Amino acid sequence: MYELMVELYPLCRSITGNEVRKTDQIISKHIPLELCEVKTGTEVFDWTIPKEWNIRDAYVIDPKGNKIIDFKKSNLHVLGYSIPVNAKISLDDLKPHLYTMPEIPDVIPYRTSYYKEQWGFCLSHNQFLKLEPGEYKVVIDSTLSDGSLTYGEYYLKGRKEDEVLISCYTCHPSLCNDNLSGVVLTTFLAKHLSKADLNYSYRFLFIPETIGAITWLSINKSKVHNIKHGLVATCLGDPGKSIYKKTLHGNDEIDRVVTNVLKNSGEPYDIIDFFPMGSDERQFCSPGFNLSVGSLMRSPYSYFKEYHTSADNLNFVQPEYLANTFSKYVHVLYVLENNKRYQNLNPKCEPQLGKRGIYSSIGGNQYVPDIQDAMIAVLILSNGDRTLLDVSEKSNLQFAIIKKAADILVKHNLLKEII
Ligand code: ZN
Repeated sequence: MYELMVELYPLCRSITGNEVRKTDQIISKHIPLELCEVKTGTEVFDWTIPKEWNIRDAYVIDPKGNKIIDFKKSNLHVLGYSIPVNAKISLDDLKPHLYTMPEIPDVIPYRTSYYKEQWGFCLSHNQFLKLEPGEYKVVIDSTLSDGSLTYGEYYLKGRKEDEVLISCYTCHPSLCNDNLSGVVLTTFLAKHLSKADLNYSYRFLFIPETIGAITWLSINKSKVHNIKHGLVATCLGDPGKSIYKKTLHGNDEIDRVVTNVLKNSGEPYDIIDFFPMGSDERQFCSPGFNLSVGSLMRSPYSYFKEYHTSADNLNFVQPEYLANTFSKYVHVLYVLENNKRYQNLNPKCEPQLGKRGIYSSIGGNQYVPDIQDAMIAVLILSNGDRTLLDVSEKSNLQFAIIKKAADILVKHNLLKEII
């Protein structure tokens, strides 16, 4: 994941453009991504696909002839979606086009202007304070013209039509936690699942944030009813603890599954209620779709001071945190895949397990408390209605142990799966 992030980091992504295509092509080396192009001017619900933006170079030369701002050193230096400019202007005329972050004076902020045509540069506040009066040359070699919006999609067919949606966004330039971490985790999760035997079908979306989600939902209205659970993957590689933002409903299966996984991880975590700002969960949860989509993150956007600045870089995100979050996503999907209902076939009081040789089948005749407790819990609670997640919650035992217990009991004809 980290190596892929290093490869994707230099590209100047935006909500449209060639660097988004290049990003999708690089992801395609790992999973068979289907690339979709939606033309400028296409109406998607209340929105219209904007013109396509591409940029080749941008810089500012100071009165002494020094190139003081250089897009080639950091693509964050350019206000995203800047229209082209090639002019000589005074410092006073330049200042309204400069964006800084006085509260963190040594970082370059990330700013965009997608829907209002203007140009600008972003720089550290420390650099801004050193600018001297005089004539500055400003160049932005960009184009804003009819083209298309690009997104990538990978659909993985399982036994059921019911789908799990994993969505990430591909519109941020050189920024790692928000959101290359989501892109690389989603890519490797898809790769991982492509080798598995799956109950659910999976849909992985690599879309520009907001306009991409609106576009995908508009084009795929008729498929949306298959999506039963979803997660927006963003902010997954920083040192902070895991934080889960619940679905709008608040107590859906995905909410309970993620809570169960985090609770049993033995690591610090937080669960927070849905709030309307944030990422694409708000499109998926909007009243017209009302999907069950939450967001499992580490430090959410705006919780970390590096957010939307040049400090959200390859040092801030580390492989160990990506790996930790990846294993939590895998665990969440494992629980979803195996969260089935069972019927106890010997329902009048607990059956005597010892005489059936079950204890010896689980290892050396010694007492294995968790698995034995799990078998009792599965038997007592499995009335055909309750799921294994219910059993895990009520018994306070790990889901994987409950699942293992259920498998043993099925093998000994004490339990059957309700299909
Ligand atoms: Zn962002």
